[in-house]
Amino acid sequence: MVIAIDGPGGVGKSTVAKGVAAARGLAYLDTGSTYRAATLAVLRSGVDPDDTDETTTVVASADIAYVDGVVCLDGERVGAEVRRAGVTAAVSAVSAIPQVRRHIVEMQRDWVRAHGGNAVVEGRDIGTVVFPDAAVKVYLTARPEVRAARRSGDPEVSGNNPCVVARELAERDRKDSTRAASPLVPASDAVIIDTSDMTAAEVIDRVLALVDEAAGSDEDV
Ligand code: C5P
Repeated sequence: MVIAIDGPGGVGKSTVAKGVAAARGLAYLDTGSTYRAATLAVLRSGVDPDDTDETTTVVASADIAYVDGVVCLDGERVGAEVRRAGVTAAVSAVSAIPQVRRHIVEMQRDWVRAHGGNAVVEGRDIGTVVFPDAAVKVYLTARPEVRAARRSGDPEVSGNNPCVVARELAERDRKDSTRAASPLVPASDAVIIDTSDMTAAEVIDRVLALVDEAAGSDEDV
């Protein structure tokens, strides 16, 4: 069973996806980290992320893997490096390129296949594009100020200045939602959960109830 958890930054996707995966003993894939690793490859190569052809070539030849919850680039663990400001600033440009997305989506589907088709997958387009047949589709939202506060409390966000984080989130949302290829939108059959006034545990319980419901209706078939 694939459980798709989509939504913009700062809504609590990672916490919820990890919590659901742990509760049900499922594999967990953070697809944002794969786009971030692709972006790191581009930045390291010196290619301009706005140069579609060169960026596509760099990403196609990069070895991006996701192993035990850590993203790797060419055999190196880059989980921390991909969260740095330089990568965050460039990731929306790289991930807007359709050829880049095709390559990374293929890698994501292979990863889930290698895990027996059972995983909690977190991203922006999981329920709409990557796994349109996912058994459970959740789209998390939260008020902008709540998202900025959550992100600025994230130790991986450099600076942790709430004003900077709020601007950065708003800008990435704009780019991710308005791009032509796989824009950030809820799937028509996704359950939308506003996490603004919920604890992480409450959101996890809500998603687990959806998972149990889907597993139950699977058995009825
Ligand atoms: O989730 P995270 O903030 O790490 O994602 C970083 C960026 O990767 C997003 O802003 C978006 O541009 C891109 N992304 C995407 N599709 C996904 C996951 C992330 O385009 N499924």
